[in-house]
Amino acid sequence: MTVPQATKYAIIGAGIHGLSTAFHLAQMLKATGRGSGADILVVDKTAIAAGASGIACGVVRNNYFQPAMRELMAHSVDVWESDAKTYSYHPVGYMQISPECMREDVGSIYEQQKAIGYESVFIEGAGASAKYMKGLFDDWQAQGITSVLHEKPGGYANNKASMNGLAAKAEAEGVRILSGVEVKSFEFGSNSGAVTALNTNQGRIACETVVVGVGPWVNKIWNMLELPKAITVKVNGKVRTDVPMWKFWCLEEGTLGVDPEMHRMNDGRFPPVLHVDTDAPLYSDRDGKLITDRLWGIYYKPDFSFGGVQGGASPYKVDQDPDQVAIDPYGPDSPEFVVGEDFIEMWCSALAHCQRRFEGQMPHYKREENSGGLGCFTPDNFPVFDVFRENVYVIADSNHGYKMIGVGKLVAQELVGEKSKLLEPFRFARFAKGELHPTSHSPFPWS
Ligand SMILES: Cc1cc2nc3c(=O)[nH]c(=O)nc-3n(C[C@H](O)[C@H](O)[C@H](O)COP(=O)(O)OP(=O)(O)OC[C@H]3O[C@@H](n4cnc5c(N)ncnc54)[C@H](O)[C@@H]3O)c2cc1C
Repeated sequence: MTVPQATKYAIIGAGIHGLSTAFHLAQMLKATGRGSGADILVVDKTAIAAGASGIACGVVRNNYFQPAMRELMAHSVDVWESDAKTYSYHPVGYMQISPECMREDVGSIYEQQKAIGYESVFIEGAGASAKYMKGLFDDWQAQGITSVLHEKPGGYANNKASMNGLAAKAEAEGVRILSGVEVKSFEFGSNSGAVTALNTNQGRIACETVVVGVGPWVNKIWNMLELPKAITVKVNGKVRTDVPMWKFWCLEEGTLGVDPEMHRMNDGRFPPVLHVDTDAPLYSDRDGKLITDRLWGIYYKPDFSFGGVQGGASPYKVDQDPDQVAIDPYGPDSPEFVVGEDFIEMWCSALAHCQRRFEGQMPHYKREENSGGLGCFTPDNFPVFDVFRENVYVIADSNHGYKMIGVGKLVAQELVGEKSKLLEPFRFARFAKGELHPTSHSPFPWS
């Protein structure tokens, strides 16, 4: 393969962020008379959707405790809705179903959704919550629930189909996307720290601007850019030095191989994506033993592309030096970071805890297909969208990002010179300044 010797914009990674940036940047260059998609090259070491975007559950929601995240998600939902067909987007809505310890947090999410015009319904109290849920599903039986947030927009999209749709839109604008081109190192200017070229396994590519959208591989590219492995973070006024910049969590997801049709609502329609957190004890649907009596959570949806009811549970922390974590082979091909028996028993039992229709269904879990995968997280578990070394725009979504299709549009806007207010709360300097995002009571690191 021959790679071009030079490009104006070099985008590394053909996942949601690289492709969305490429497509929107091409449109903006054309609209402003400053160029076109022909000025943009996307390189991916493997292929389109080879990373986290290609295995994501695909949930698109607004439910975030952090105001800046909610505003960003509302913007992304508009982008999903702008071409639902090409993005393979299903606008079924999303529900956060919670126990008492989360009621106040979720109530504040609802209030702020009202303030930004994001349509949702909030139900409070055990009786009212059970009645609302039984109105949707007559077999609803989850315990310990005292609030329900029902977001009317949002839903989910099909991971690979949406990436292929996005890639086709970028290519139609003249963007080149090259698979099998791995960035191995960078060349820096002699009078500045800017990147002047990518050194790839297929040759050198000179460039004026670089966009990094490499998902779980961000630590590797960060090291190649010679950025700090450990940083200073101010938390509640206290300065902590030497905080590792990156850490990994392993996401646990899987599919119950039943007919997705079995998970319709009382009125016959397909349901919103359901996310249930509760502190009610969880017992095994296999043998009745106690699985946990601590706060637990799951999410699920009927999904024809996964061939069943698909979803996941809380991730676990990977307790290893980030430089030593084996990211490749990634996702289902990983010998190390795929789900095991504990997840299968917990998730299937949790489904049965929530709805009677899932009782006794554990044998249908799709064991033949590996699932789950790594995500790379920042010190506060929220994204970093910022420019480093003068001309390198890093999109590090801290594993929040399949739903964030709009981020590429905002990054493209910044690349043509228009600062985005929505991206401002995600600058790298927030760590040293102590301008961190608030944390919630959710058992998930991404809520
Ligand atoms: C199991 C799982 C489920 C998830 N579910 C959801 C969900 O339901 N909703 C949600 O919003 N988010 C979800 N996420 C998170 C989301 O998938 C990621 O945050 C997002 O897809 C990251 O997108 P990206 O474009 O940054 O990276 P990726 O999609 O990972 O793409 C990065 C690309 O960069 C390429 N690359 C890496 N290094 C190099 C290099 N040196 N040279 C060239 N190319 C390189 C890779 O081959 C890859 O194709 C999930 C994540 C996982 C793991």
